[in-house]
Amino acid sequence: MLELLDNPVPWPNGARCAASITFDMDTDSALHLSHADAYKRVAALSWLRYDEVAVPRIVKLFNHYNIKGTFFVPGWCVERYPATVETIVASDHELAYHGYLHENPMDQTREGERYWLERSIEAIERLSGKRPTGGRAPYYNYSPHSTGLLAQAGFVYDSSLMADSQPYVMRAPEGEVIELPTDWAMDDWPQYAHSPDFRYLMPTRAPDKAMEVFMAEFEAAYECGGLWVTVWHPFVTGRLARLAEVAKMIEAMQSRGGVWFATMEEIALHVRRCIADGSYTPRVVSMPYYEEPIPELTEGFPAGLELRKPRG
Ligand SMILES: [Zn+2]
Repeated sequence: MLELLDNPVPWPNGARCAASITFDMDTDSALHLSHADAYKRVAALSWLRYDEVAVPRIVKLFNHYNIKGTFFVPGWCVERYPATVETIVASDHELAYHGYLHENPMDQTREGERYWLERSIEAIERLSGKRPTGGRAPYYNYSPHSTGLLAQAGFVYDSSLMADSQPYVMRAPEGEVIELPTDWAMDDWPQYAHSPDFRYLMPTRAPDKAMEVFMAEFEAAYECGGLWVTVWHPFVTGRLARLAEVAKMIEAMQSRGGVWFATMEEIALHVRRCIADGSYTPRVVSMPYYEEPIPELTEGFPAGLELRKPRG
């Protein structure tokens, strides 16, 4: 078999791959920003507040199979739903950053993004007694400022981006952050979400069909020594038929052996140690990719022949 990854991370105890089941506990945060009348949308709120029953159920599942998971939770959700979030903390699963009210980081100034980052960190720290060490940008909308701000906040990792199949280092003038990348194929929203309020109208996939997509990614990670990170949501994947498939999946992975189930923080700290001792040499990517629109859009063309006028 051709080795598709030239430089896999040496995972602990000779594991074939690292697997992290991560959930973004958004609850109704995003709805309040996107809709002024969110408070009246009871049906949409009820769909999102399924998190209140799904999170304890997912924690129970993790505990039953003796694995630790990571929950990316907006600071507002931590404050609004403390009892739900406490079930995560009480069983020692990881709480990580996911914006404050699921605001879009690309809509923020650098100062705004920094303010909401700090406020979210404080909310997590106040509830759990522990400062988060990583995060995922709401909507995956990591901004050109994000690497620098996360580095300044002392974060070890981010998991918003998709530029590799294994961990890499993002280097900004302010410092470095390890990226633990994922991909849309690992997200449950394209498989299951049907939400008129978010204008997301898709036929929902049968759980076994959705699992085929996630498991194809797992098989490749297992074969190549890679990293497998889910981007699931409690109110989406935490429903009965879907979570039953996840339980079967965990059983199959555990009986097969060679899978290192870990939190994102554990994976990031392991990767950092491997970089320090020279057993893993990551790709280093300078961030941000761009500070402004590419110059070809605004100069260098004869008048009238511009490819596209830059948007605002
Ligand atoms: Zn989210």
